Amino acid sequence: MAINLPINPTIFDIQNLYLSKQATVTEVVDYFYAQIELKDKAIKSVVRLNTDLAFRLASDLDKYILDKNDAEIKKILGQKKLFGIPFAMKDNILVSDEIVTGQSQILDGYKAVYSSDVYSLLVNQGAILIAQTNMDEFAFGSSTEFSGFGQITHNPADIDRVPGGTSGGSAAMVASGQVPFAIGTDTGGSIRQPASFCGIYGIRPTYGTVSRWGIMASTSSFDQAGPLANNLADIQLILDILQQKSLRDQTSTDIKNLNSDKKPIIGIPINYFGKGLSAEVRDLFENTIEKLREKYEVRNISMKTTEYALSVYYILQTVEASANLERYDGVRYGKQVTNGPLFSGSRDSYFGDESKRRIMLGTYTSSAGYYDAYYNKACQVRELIRRDFERVFEEVDVLLMPTSPFPAFKIGQNSNDPMAMYLADIMTVSHPIAKIPGLIVPLGNVSFEGASLPVGAQLVSKEFGEEILFKVGEELAKIIN
Ligand code: GLN
Repeated sequence: MAINLPINPTIFDIQNLYLSKQATVTEVVDYFYAQIELKDKAIKSVVRLNTDLAFRLASDLDKYILDKNDAEIKKILGQKKLFGIPFAMKDNILVSDEIVTGQSQILDGYKAVYSSDVYSLLVNQGAILIAQTNMDEFAFGSSTEFSGFGQITHNPADIDRVPGGTSGGSAAMVASGQVPFAIGTDTGGSIRQPASFCGIYGIRPTYGTVSRWGIMASTSSFDQAGPLANNLADIQLILDILQQKSLRDQTSTDIKNLNSDKKPIIGIPINYFGKGLSAEVRDLFENTIEKLREKYEVRNISMKTTEYALSVYYILQTVEASANLERYDGVRYGKQVTNGPLFSGSRDSYFGDESKRRIMLGTYTSSAGYYDAYYNKACQVRELIRRDFERVFEEVDVLLMPTSPFPAFKIGQNSNDPMAMYLADIMTVSHPIAKIPGLIVPLGNVSFEGASLPVGAQLVSKEFGEEILFKVGEELAKIIN
């Protein structure tokens, strides 16, 4: 049967196919594999297809509803919220018996021996993993140009540009209609920046609300997984499924979504609107803020710690990353050199440049001689940044700010300049430092360097403020459409 879906389908669109018996789950999975076949030669967002797994799950679901009547099918879809919904997941999230590499050669061919909480929660709701997505090695980067295997993902809005990183594969897949939703991880912006660059929705949840069990650790006190999708309702639905306390993650919490009936006050952190913000992004925001003023009280606010965020982030990030990468020694996991020293030889041969750079930086700043000057100092400033946000959130409920100073940059533009790449993260690193959530709402396209490129607004709240983000996000989506 021919399947009729919009280019960027929502979960609701697919559920309707099942409710009206227009397609079987297997046909829907087939349909999305056909989309991948058609589109991914140019985008290069997929690193692995999970065909066996996907068709097995699809056939189980088809059998399950085969002889059910309409009312029963409706009930099943109400209970299994992602029944027959294909999705993709970044290549750093474990699925039992599937290969997962973090796009590092040091894990080449590694087959996971258990599944992450994130995967299990989605599959329990009937979702079907059809592909794993490209990323920068071990989620270090901002562009998805630095997989250890050399695959570079392209932005569906402009094939010469990056999709953002490090969840660029997940974002590009959703934006090009190869899956209705995908899962990414965000340490310092890796869900938010690609969502913004590709023109889709994405959320970095409050730290601790989504279990990290079974996700490759990059920076344990920052990492959070979250969804990328085509509308806010889908983001909300998936996040609700993912936000469960897990006994396997000691930082996991069951507090979620503190709501408030009060009409939110919007804060504009003026520090992020200064030098360095591109004129095109600034104009778009000024227009949006004008329109928001008709609905909300909007106040300019001033942060005191903005200028320290990037330094604090890159000290803490590299210290934690260097510790987390210690386990890859060529003995317990993945690939090992056959001649030469096993431990240092394997690490030298199979870690990419950025991983090595971070190991060296992190080892240096946490070494006995420099610990107080760097790591310890950064921990202290982290606390000041947290308090700065706490202060601001006594005055306003939601911050509205850009996600990046500019739209998607060209492939190769920042490749030889790690500093330029780090600076691209300036608008996304302070929130993970303070453990607070950020939601991306696409604002539309700007004309930039001759291309039409998406720009996303970033809405930020205090810890557990996701409900308020959704409330304002919904209004924002209405205002701009
Ligand atoms: N660009 C940041 C970094 O390189 C954030 C990456 C991420 O969120 N995984 O560390």
